[in-house]
Amino acid sequence: MAHNAFITRETIDGADDGPLSGRTVAVKDNISTEGVRTTCGSAMLESYVPPYDATVVERLKQAGATIVGKTNMDEFGMGGTTETSAYGPVENPADSGHVPGGSSGGSAAAVAAGEADLALGSDTGGSVRNPAAFCGVVGIKPTYGLVSRYGLVAYANSLEQIGPIAQTVEDAAALLDVISGPDPNDGTTRFDLAGDDGGAADDRSAADGGSATHPATDANYAAAADGDVNGTTVGVVTDLLEGADDRVVDRFEATLDDLRSQGVDTVEVSLDSVEHAVQAYYVIAMSEASSNLARFDGVRYGVSGGDEGNWNESFARAREDGFGEEVKRRILLGTYALSAGYHDKYYQKAQDARAWVKRDFDDAFERADVLATPTMPVLPPALGESLSDPLQLYLMDANTVPVNLANLPAISVPAGEADGLPVGLQFVGPKFGEEAIVRAASAVEG
Ligand code: GLN
Repeated sequence: MAHNAFITRETIDGADDGPLSGRTVAVKDNISTEGVRTTCGSAMLESYVPPYDATVVERLKQAGATIVGKTNMDEFGMGGTTETSAYGPVENPADSGHVPGGSSGGSAAAVAAGEADLALGSDTGGSVRNPAAFCGVVGIKPTYGLVSRYGLVAYANSLEQIGPIAQTVEDAAALLDVISGPDPNDGTTRFDLAGDDGGAADDRSAADGGSATHPATDANYAAAADGDVNGTTVGVVTDLLEGADDRVVDRFEATLDDLRSQGVDTVEVSLDSVEHAVQAYYVIAMSEASSNLARFDGVRYGVSGGDEGNWNESFARAREDGFGEEVKRRILLGTYALSAGYHDKYYQKAQDARAWVKRDFDDAFERADVLATPTMPVLPPALGESLSDPLQLYLMDANTVPVNLANLPAISVPAGEADGLPVGLQFVGPKFGEEAIVRAASAVEG
């Protein structure tokens, strides 16, 4: 099909009535769908059919949505261009010679091309916001703990959230209204705990004397898309403008000018820690990935390694055949970073940097209601251009990964085009500040 946005096209009908009835949704292929193949963009899971629905899929069905298929993605979410998929690359509907971004490139392309009204992606280090920016659509990465990860095939658990993609801020927010909320199957969404083991919920539960409800319960994200930003203070993260493509910075500045004309105050904010964010992110993400992906051994999950030789040899064959190059690279590096003797040098340092990034954001939100950066420092690369240089690809994530390290919410909203290619602006909010970023983004839409 056009753009190669889908790995599997299959219609899954929802309830007759609900807030999403009559709307079509494309679902990233690392989100489990009962009875419908879920490959994670990997040959390893070419014929894997989950026996249950992810919580978000259950909620889509209850809301009356029609799921139209499973979307193409970088293998296990590892990439930023959707070129590491075992099912071939996706073309950017805005310009077919260019990548759609990734790893949720199929989801963003499906929405941009009108093949689905809405889509779900997952964002471990930018994978919803990056393809939203490159395809000229809206993408939201929720606060950690806002949306259940039950049924999401894990890449790096401590960093990732499922998030909505849509043509408009209001539509993306309405989809967030449907998928967010507590889930007994995912302990990190629990807010009814007495404060000591509630994961992301800790401080909120404690502040409420342990009786707090989940932040999504009383929220109406779609209603926050009212464009009313008069009196809002936007912090411009200067560190993340340095090194960005001039054409991207021009669009970013023009959009800020427009916001100022709507009554926004801007202040410059510097986050000293962010220069270490990409390194810290990749150490943590690869470490978690090396552990998560151990289950793909041809016995528990994945293609069979055959019964020749001993168990170890069969296991190795399954992983040699089933995984692509980028996934193997990350498992090797992650295993190395966690191994005895190196743990303190890499993993512990990365955790320290992560704590520093969190503190920097806390300080910044003392001075601003939301923060703004270009979503991506570059325009969408041409297809095939970036695959040979993984380091260059990792650096492309400079503006998105700090948000995951700090477990914060962020949105990417279209901010015009440069050379015919879409540019995205990112707003970052304080913890559970989804309404503030939705409001700010809706003002950019004008
Ligand atoms: N590009 C980043 C990575 O490869 C982010 C991926 C993601 O968010 N799933 O890890």
